[in-house]
Amino acid sequence: MSRRKFLKNAASTFILLNTPSLLTARTSDKSKSERGELTNTQLEYDVIIIGGGAIGLASAYYLAKEHKNKKVLVLEQDHFFNDKTSSSGNSRQFRIQYNEKEISEMVLSSIPLWDELQTHTNDEIFKKAGCLWFGDEEVQGPEAQLAMVMKVMDELKISYTPLNATQLEKDYGFSNFPADFKGFFQKDGASINVKTTLKTLYKMASQSSKITFASQQKVIDIENNANGVVVKTEKNIFSANKLIITAGPHTNDMLQLVGFNLDIDLWEMVSCYFAKKDAHIDYPTWITYQEIDQGSPGFYYGFPDTQWDKPGYLRVAANYPSRLLNDMRGYSQVPDPLVIKQTSDWVKRHMHGLDPTPLFTSTCINAMLSSKKNAQLNGKEFVVGFLPPSIPHHKNIVIQGTGWVFKLVPLLGKICADLAITGQTNYDISRVSVS
Ligand SMILES: Cc1cc2nc3c(=O)[nH]c(=O)nc-3n(C[C@H](O)[C@H](O)[C@H](O)COP(=O)(O)OP(=O)(O)OC[C@H]3O[C@@H](n4cnc5c(N)ncnc54)[C@H](O)[C@@H]3O)c2cc1C
Repeated sequence: MSRRKFLKNAASTFILLNTPSLLTARTSDKSKSERGELTNTQLEYDVIIIGGGAIGLASAYYLAKEHKNKKVLVLEQDHFFNDKTSSSGNSRQFRIQYNEKEISEMVLSSIPLWDELQTHTNDEIFKKAGCLWFGDEEVQGPEAQLAMVMKVMDELKISYTPLNATQLEKDYGFSNFPADFKGFFQKDGASINVKTTLKTLYKMASQSSKITFASQQKVIDIENNANGVVVKTEKNIFSANKLIITAGPHTNDMLQLVGFNLDIDLWEMVSCYFAKKDAHIDYPTWITYQEIDQGSPGFYYGFPDTQWDKPGYLRVAANYPSRLLNDMRGYSQVPDPLVIKQTSDWVKRHMHGLDPTPLFTSTCINAMLSSKKNAQLNGKEFVVGFLPPSIPHHKNIVIQGTGWVFKLVPLLGKICADLAITGQTNYDISRVSVS
């Protein structure tokens, strides 16, 4: 069925709900679409983006900035800036070091894009506190392995300072580390201000009359055919030449509508905030790599004190899932008391100057590729690109999903936008494509 015929048929069965709340984002920056209503002429687009999280907003930003004449619709099932999926909370870590040289190169390519984004807001997006990694050199943690990333940094000539256990304790305020702990400090590591990133992307994209943001528009069906895509939400039916899927932990819900899926585990994770006992105490961003510490998991990561994330408190989080889920229906959003206790015990054992009883706790959920189950994608942390060629009309649909990719937000947004409009990108994505 042609796209126009599909829309015409659909119009008789679906009522258009054009209440202002349909397009309301929780921000003071009112988009043009918020002031109007969706009319029948607003149902056809050049590009539809499913998901208004960090990557979806970045895709909209680059479509508005670099493909100015293209009409774009961003569909978000909840409100924009909601705290229910992966871009929740206030801070994320930025780091260059990866096990894979190609991914480190992608992070390096993202730096000028972050700098450009910073020019659009007076609020600080990055706190460049540096990045400290330590632990057992050979342990493969959830993010990487110390020995491997040091090799990649050497290859790419990225400067870092190697450290031993004594230096880690004396210079950085940790204690009770095993004598054979190794580590390094990399000066470009930073804490990223999540909310400012999201709001700046949204604000800048909203300035284009070509971009429509629609909240409370849950996508429930997708038709992909020779004419393009037809996207059905609970309220409307839209069509477009191209579709970008950036649905975070809901990625597979969307992919299965187009006959594809990824082997994804959803990680429910817990963060704790500890009060500083001395205002002068601070740490860089840090991650530890230790299989087991005193009978508990030894994987934790932490953030510096920032004015945007509970000033006076330091966030320390478990770098392992409190629960592994198959889909979002099981997401409890209740921090697991055992993981809170394990994190608090770690802080008590290893960090100076903090009250080891957390005052705030939170959860977050992230999609990760299950490397055990997925031979095709083995070793990949995230994917970006077109659907695989085995899917008919695969180049109608660009997907970005899984991984710890907040640090790559502008780069992935630009890649998705370029692929949707020009069919290609100047960045090397061969390491992370699904084809
Ligand atoms: C605890 C935790 C710590 C992390 N730490 C780091 C870190 O330090 N550094 C780092 O780089 N990354 C980190 N990450 C990962 C990073 O936060 C994510 O990679 C990033 O936020 C993903 O953004 P997204 O836009 O893909 O997904 P999301 O932010 O989840 O956005 C997806 C959006 O799609 C919407 N959606 C889903 N289904 C539908 C539908 N059917 N119809 C319409 N809309 C739909 C959702 O409502 C949601 O708003 C962390 C993640 C977690 C959970």
